[in-house]
Order: sequence, then structure tokens, then C-alpha cells
Amino acid sequence: MLTGKHLIAGQWVGGDETFTNEPVSGPADSFARGTVADVDQACKAAEEAFWSFGYSTEAERAAFLREIATQIDARGDDITHMGVKETGLPAARLEGERGRTVGQLRLFADHIEAGDYLDVRHDPALPDRAPLPRPDIKLKQRPIGPVAVFGASNFPLAFSTAGGDTAAALAAGCPVVVKGHSAHPGVSDIVAQAIDAAIKVCGMPPGVFSQIQGGNRAVGQAVVQHPLIRAVGFTGSLAGGRALFDLCAARPEPIPFFGELGSVNPMFVFDSALSARGIEIASGWAASLTMGAGQFCTNPGIAVLQEGAAAEAFVTAASEALEMVAPQAMLTEGIASAYRIGTAQLAGSAGVRQVLATTGGVREATPQLFQTTAQAFLQDPALGEEVFGPLGLVVTVESPEERMALARSLHGQLTCTLQIDEADHEEARRLMPVLERKAGRVLANGFPTGVEVCDAMVHGGPYPASTNFGATSVGTLSIRRFLRPVSYQNMPDTLG
Ligand code: NAP
Repeated sequence: MLTGKHLIAGQWVGGDETFTNEPVSGPADSFARGTVADVDQACKAAEEAFWSFGYSTEAERAAFLREIATQIDARGDDITHMGVKETGLPAARLEGERGRTVGQLRLFADHIEAGDYLDVRHDPALPDRAPLPRPDIKLKQRPIGPVAVFGASNFPLAFSTAGGDTAAALAAGCPVVVKGHSAHPGVSDIVAQAIDAAIKVCGMPPGVFSQIQGGNRAVGQAVVQHPLIRAVGFTGSLAGGRALFDLCAARPEPIPFFGELGSVNPMFVFDSALSARGIEIASGWAASLTMGAGQFCTNPGIAVLQEGAAAEAFVTAASEALEMVAPQAMLTEGIASAYRIGTAQLAGSAGVRQVLATTGGVREATPQLFQTTAQAFLQDPALGEEVFGPLGLVVTVESPEERMALARSLHGQLTCTLQIDEADHEEARRLMPVLERKAGRVLANGFPTGVEVCDAMVHGGPYPASTNFGATSVGTLSIRRFLRPVSYQNMPDTLG
């Protein structure tokens, strides 16, 4: 079922050095460790493929995307089996994520067939205009060339080998070089086999897709620095994303780095909603915080409430709901260790009270709940940093002014949530201009986990939520990251 190799331009390539995955249970599997030479070969093949793939028709690329989806579904059981083994995520979650992954491949097929993505504009010639005539000018979007994609550990399918970045780049006409994530090399291997099969069925150039397995940080660094790579799609941690972003900016020819990074996704519970349904919101919050062992970039880690009896009832209800959640395996031992460190740091912070402390096994996450005041939060920026896992921090405010000050102090976020009833609307309206500047998505009376893949979705936000606040990594708008507008002046229709 596994090749244990890289896929480079249609060839399965091994190597002298190997690394293994870290299964939650069962024997480990061995994979070729990537090298800088593998990266160079894949990038050269991608550039070569661009000269035909970049000029393929929308119908050809749509058929290719749909065939990848079919080939992934054909390997569904193997993918789920390997995903459970490598990540500890439940089978149902992985099946759902596979549905999302094939769904977004098919959505991009429909999207490019509709043609609007080219954003064609035309200013016809005005030969008699005074004092100067106007030339005929047409604009359309063109694919940028080979794109590097880095998957995230927490979405082994939807943000990985054939995930949203790969789907968007291929839809645009850009060949892709994936740096496989070392947390799930087995899933990446099987999905690459599906793409390889689709390349053959559709007669695409083999360099249109390559995957270099990791196990070596030099691979990721070499990919972003390779002169033939034109842009990078990245989903992962702030530290990793920032390191690679800096490498992209320092290249002799800098390239865009579309990094989707971490976020604490604050939730503002307004007074009327808190009094009327605080207990219900608290239990919904606990469920959202602990979903997937809290390993979601849209995990609503911070709840902001007006201090008082209703806030205390909210904290009690949230704590009781969180205590009921069983320990869950984390994606890797490294992530589990980072969670323990983040929890201990918060527990030791001035002005922070630990409401719920639970313990589990070495690679397990158990819920933790903390409480602090806006005053302490405003004094210590570390309290606003993401702890990746099922951890919640309740911040109480003394007044609407303090809530506003707290909102203004926030870093860029993927999401901000409002819990509001009718009577809260006026107060919430005052906060909206601040939240719009802070987040890519602002939502009311729901929870941010669960990102719909559609035309109107923005999954991004000001730094550090992402490195490019004008872009989204989810939804059809994400194709624009891999297109570049070109104007054609007085150009015969046969040429441009
Ligand atoms: P990660 O540790 O940053 O890894 C992402 C990828 O980057 C991996 O392939 C990794 O290589 C590589 N990498 C990291 N640092 C590098 C460096 N200095 N040089 C070269 N390559 C480097 O992130 P993760 O653990 O997969 O994901 C967890 C984080 O991602 C969380 O903070 C979460 O909030 C965030 N996340 C964000 C989103 C979003 O949409 N914004 C979605 C999911 C997750 P290795 O394989 O060698 O580790």
C-alpha cells in the first residue's frame, strides 16, 4: 500500500537515508528522507511542465481535478486506516475530511469551467479621444508558474498533499511541488499515488505534481529558495511559517509566501446573550474547544465576558462540560509536549487562575480551563498567544470600554465570534469596526471550528493569522494567490 518514496515527475524515487512515521499504535513505516537534489529535480520538472500545463484548457484541468478526486475516493479505506494510525484522529473525522478534500477539488473544477476566475476586463480603443487616443487594453489572469505547498499536521488531507493549496494551484494552471509533512508521510504517500494515477489517466505532463517527503528541514528550506518556485502555500505554525516567509523575502528574487498560521479566535459574549443563554454557550464553547483534541487553527481559545454572576456561571458550566471530555491522542509527541509546556506557562502567569486542570497519557491532550481579567491580559501579551490544544481562557471585563480596549489590543486573527441577542446589537455594532480590522472572518452566534469551502469564505487574516492579509487559503477566492494579472495592449485576439 505504501511506496515509502518521493514522487518526482512521474517516478517513485527512494534514497539512502530514511525516516519513520510516529504511529499512535502499531509498527512504524519507513520513508525516504528528502534531499536538496530531490527538490531541484522536482522544481525543474515543474517548470518544464508549466509550458504545457499553464496553457491547458479549463476543461482539461477540470477533468484532471475531478480524476484526482475519484482516485482519492478509490483509496478511501487505505487513507483512513493510515490516517488513524499516524494521527490518532478518529476514522469518522478522517472520512469527513476526505469528503471535504474531494469536494474542494470538484469545486475548483466547476469554478474554472465557469470562467469568472480570469476576471477579464476590456477597455476598447478610443482612437478619436483628445488630446490623446486610447489604445485597446484587455486584462486577464495568468498562472504564475510552479508553486510549493506545505501541508499542516492537523489536516492530513484537506490542508496537505491534495488539499486546498494544491487544488487551487492546479486549477490555476500551476504545477505543484509538495513538501510532505513528517507527521503523516503514509497518508501523503497514498494521496500522491492517487495524483500519479490521475496524471496518467488524463495524460498530464509528469512534472505537474511532485512530492518530496520530509524528515529533514533542509527540504522545506530548499523548496522555498529554489529559483524556479514562484509562490508558496503554507499552513502550519507561526514559528515555521515565519522562518520560511523570511527565506522567501531574502531571496535574490523575493516571492509571495501565503502562510496560514495560528490564531486564538476570540469569542465575545455580550451581556444579554450571557444572561439569557450563558450555560448553553459555555457548553457549545467546550465542545468547539475540544473538537479534534483542540488541534484546529480556528479553535476559539479565548472567551471575553462581562464580570459578574453570569460570568461565574459560564465558567462553572464550561468547566463541567470540559471535565467530561475524555483524553484524546495528539497528532505527534512534539505537539503533545508543546501543549504541556503552553499549559504550564499559562498556569504560572501573573493574574491567571487555573479553573480546571486535567492530566492524561504522554501523547494525550486533556482539557484545561483558565480565567483572568482584562487588566492582566492587557499587561501580558503572552496571554494572547495560541496554545495548540483543548485549552480555554476566560477573560472578564469590567465595562464595555474595557472590552473595546481588549479587542483593540488583539493581534490578527483568523476569526472573531460574537455571541449576541437583539439587545446586544448596538454594543456589538461599536465593536465591529475593530473586529473587521483584526480578523478574516467575523461570525455571530456560532463557533468558528468548521470552515465552509465556498465562494464567500475567507480563511486568513492580518498577521500573525496569515502572512498576507489580502488572501484566503480556503474557498474559490484562494485561486487568486496563484494568478497574476497581465494587460494586453492593442494585441490581436490570436495572441492574447
Ligand atoms: P509546522 O510545525 O509549522 O509544520 C508545517 C510544515 O513546515 C512542515 O512540513 C514542517 O516540516 C515545515 N517546517 C516548519 N518549520 C520549518 C523550518 N524552520 N524550516 C523548514 N521547514 C519547516 O506546523 P504544524 O505542526 O503542521 O501545524 C500546527 C500549527 O499550524 C498550529 O499552530 C495551527 O494553529 C496551525 N494551523 C494553521 C492553519 C490555518 O489555516 N491558518 C491550519 C492548520 C494549522 P517538518 O515536516 O519537518 O516538521
